Amino acid sequence: MIAYGKQDITSEDIDEVINVLKSDFLTQGPKVEYFEKNLCTYTGAKHASVVNSATSALHIACLALGLSKEDILWTSPVTFVASANAGLYCGAKVDFVDIDSDTFNMCPLKLEEKLIEANKTNTLPKILIPVHLCGQSCDMKKIKELCDKFDVKIIEDASHAIGGKYLSEPVGNCKYSDITVFSFHPVKIITTAEGGAALTNDKTLLNKMNLYRSHGITRNEEEMMEASHGSWFYQQINLGFNYRMTDIQAALGISQLKRVDKYVSDRHRLATKYDKSFGSEIPLDIPHHINDTYSSYHLYVIRLQLEKINKTHKDFFEELRAKGIGVNLHYIPVHLHPYYKNLGFKHGDFPNAEDYYSKAISLPLHPNLTPVDQEFIIESIKSISSSS
Ligand SMILES: *Cc1c(COP(=O)(O)O)cnc(C)c1O
Repeated sequence: MIAYGKQDITSEDIDEVINVLKSDFLTQGPKVEYFEKNLCTYTGAKHASVVNSATSALHIACLALGLSKEDILWTSPVTFVASANAGLYCGAKVDFVDIDSDTFNMCPLKLEEKLIEANKTNTLPKILIPVHLCGQSCDMKKIKELCDKFDVKIIEDASHAIGGKYLSEPVGNCKYSDITVFSFHPVKIITTAEGGAALTNDKTLLNKMNLYRSHGITRNEEEMMEASHGSWFYQQINLGFNYRMTDIQAALGISQLKRVDKYVSDRHRLATKYDKSFGSEIPLDIPHHINDTYSSYHLYVIRLQLEKINKTHKDFFEELRAKGIGVNLHYIPVHLHPYYKNLGFKHGDFPNAEDYYSKAISLPLHPNLTPVDQEFIIESIKSISSSS
């Protein structure tokens, strides 16, 4: 099967990990801090807190912003479930803002309408999580303008988007948000096996996130509620978790981060090849490129023009899989999962998200996809869409 996404591990990566295994620290050694420093240098954010997944990063980001059970969190229905679950972990109510049909990202117009309505009924969210789907940034300027107006905090879910740019600046600099989250899962742009990061320009938020990632325990006397008993002393001042990243993972991350720009340019080369191969005679829509953004191209999503194809979305998808092409579908709209339906969501709630889901297919895209495999994928799509 040609994988839809796959990590790239070099001998340098392996050497870096082995060096940690031979060192004094497997976890909480110098590599964690060094990786955080490098992420800040790369993105331009002031602070970073690395953790064991983007899911954990989203959770501590919500906690640091004070999300609790009286509160509401909004995100996009077209995302991985973790973007929404973070709100539920904090006991908050979760709701969604439908996507724009061209960009697949949260629609700023829908957001504006929904904020105006929520303001009237006193049900404004405390936090908004826009998701940079496929690696292409949301319209952050507009989103920030709206959120500032209604006093809503912003966490960018940039799990897909490290290496991407918005208005010529790196995604992750937090210019338009309180916190930005990255994922380092192996299918994403760079990997630490499992891993994630939360970036911010606010030192107070950083301190809170660092507490939450490690049991709510502090060794900093200034944060303690009473005088230290001695140099062994620490205090738990919050209910935190064990969400820490290990030095082994951080060493891999440091090594991978050196190649992030190369990975993204490889992905652009492959995406351009797909774009050029699917001319207007092929009954599908290629991704829409938004001006002002440079996508990291985590995903290349085509949408079938089903009215021009003599088969169903499912059949099309299964035929590609049968040829050994590891296509995928990102994502089943979150509100249609049974868990969310039990919370009251139903079919029809977010029509653009549901329409997208009815025709989207993610094609294989990763730096080691060979020209031969890509050609095979392109030819297969052409032949499946023309045969009936
Ligand atoms: C992968 C992903 C996550 C979760 O990342 P993990 O590191 O696996 O926890 C969250 N949000 C989005 C949009 C993702 O793609």
